[in-house]
Amino acid sequence: MGATLDLSRATVTPRSAVKLNLSGLTRADLVAALVSAEVVRPEKAKMRATQLWRWIHHYGVTDFQAMSDVAKEMRASLTEAFTLDRPEIIERQVSRDGTRKWLIRTAPGIEIETVYIPDVGRAGALCVSSQVGCTLNCTFCHTGTQALVRNLTAAEIVAQVQVARDDLGEWPSPKEDRRLSNIVFMGMGEPLYNLDSVAAAIDIIADNEGIAISRRRITVSTSGVVPELQALGERTQAMLAISLHATNDALREKLVPLNKKYPLAQLLSAIRAYPGLSNAKRVTFEYVMLKGVNDSPAEAKALVQLLKGVPAKINLIPFNPWPGSQYECSDWATIEAFAAILNRGGYASPIRTPRGRDILAACGQLKSESEKVRASVRRKTATEAPAS
Ligand code: SAH
Ligand code: SF4
Repeated sequence: MGATLDLSRATVTPRSAVKLNLSGLTRADLVAALVSAEVVRPEKAKMRATQLWRWIHHYGVTDFQAMSDVAKEMRASLTEAFTLDRPEIIERQVSRDGTRKWLIRTAPGIEIETVYIPDVGRAGALCVSSQVGCTLNCTFCHTGTQALVRNLTAAEIVAQVQVARDDLGEWPSPKEDRRLSNIVFMGMGEPLYNLDSVAAAIDIIADNEGIAISRRRITVSTSGVVPELQALGERTQAMLAISLHATNDALREKLVPLNKKYPLAQLLSAIRAYPGLSNAKRVTFEYVMLKGVNDSPAEAKALVQLLKGVPAKINLIPFNPWPGSQYECSDWATIEAFAAILNRGGYASPIRTPRGRDILAACGQLKSESEKVRASVRRKTATEAPAS
């Protein structure tokens, strides 16, 4: 892995005041940063980086002064050259059901939504974004109606975890009884179009001397970018989730237009070859329930056929509507009947309870409402502002 430094956040401040933020660097980049700033001699850099790593990622400190086993002069040099600042939190919302949502700004125009959902996974899952916007146009997804602003850096992905940990009060990184036990890349964007940053972020998040969330508790969800699946498995050993939503190419092309490029047969054979796939490490298939579109008993049976021999579980996601969306959510009885067929076919098929709907934190609702709220706030402020 290269040792390129991520200076994207530093560009916010004037050149004279640029300080590199160390809190989202990989180990290799951290060593390189210490050496290039001449804060540490090259032969001592690795040892010093290990020490800093523990403070940053195990204790979650945001101030070099808190590093009690680092000499005073060294703390001063570090403070002069670097920062450990968190990004700005523009908005924080807590749902009636305990779901938390943060709108985080890492740079001008780079606003990221991150959602914490309690009681999912072992204890609670953090749904992180990998891009601002998305280049794909899945017809049921609001994010898909928003143009890609840009890929997030590894630091910006890790920052989402750090912000959540700050808010949950989970420093130092607990070994047991965690509230944040799982990470899912199911926020905004297509993670496999940003694999370098996603893989580097997973290296940081999974590191045992830091945040230490095991790779088996990290799930990457993709709409099916076939050529990247092998690399995802090899580089991250993360759990795989596939947004399937249809059992034949004609319908899937309408719902997930990427299917035109990578049809079902190709997708399924890439999934069967996913590194590490086994009964203990099953693929999750996500299937959004759209009334009268993909929810018939015949489609449930077709799904069982399609996935034959793939160690899998199927997550049924009730569709979350958004203004202007052309779909409706299937009736509850239809979803239950669909699940029953999958169960009889041998697949665990939990129905995902919509969480955080009151704060628009549910699947497919991310980002869009924040923009709307901000736009209306802007309008309100404009009308209230005294004429100049
Ligand atoms: N781009 C990736 C990950 C982000 S989307 C992917 O497509 O897999 C995370 C999940 O939310 C996907 O399974 C997606 O299909 C689903 N989703 C998107 N919009 C939704 C909506 N309006 N209602 C329910 N689920 C939705
Ligand atoms: Fe992008 Fe995923 Fe939404 Fe499709 S479902 S538009 S890939 S974020």
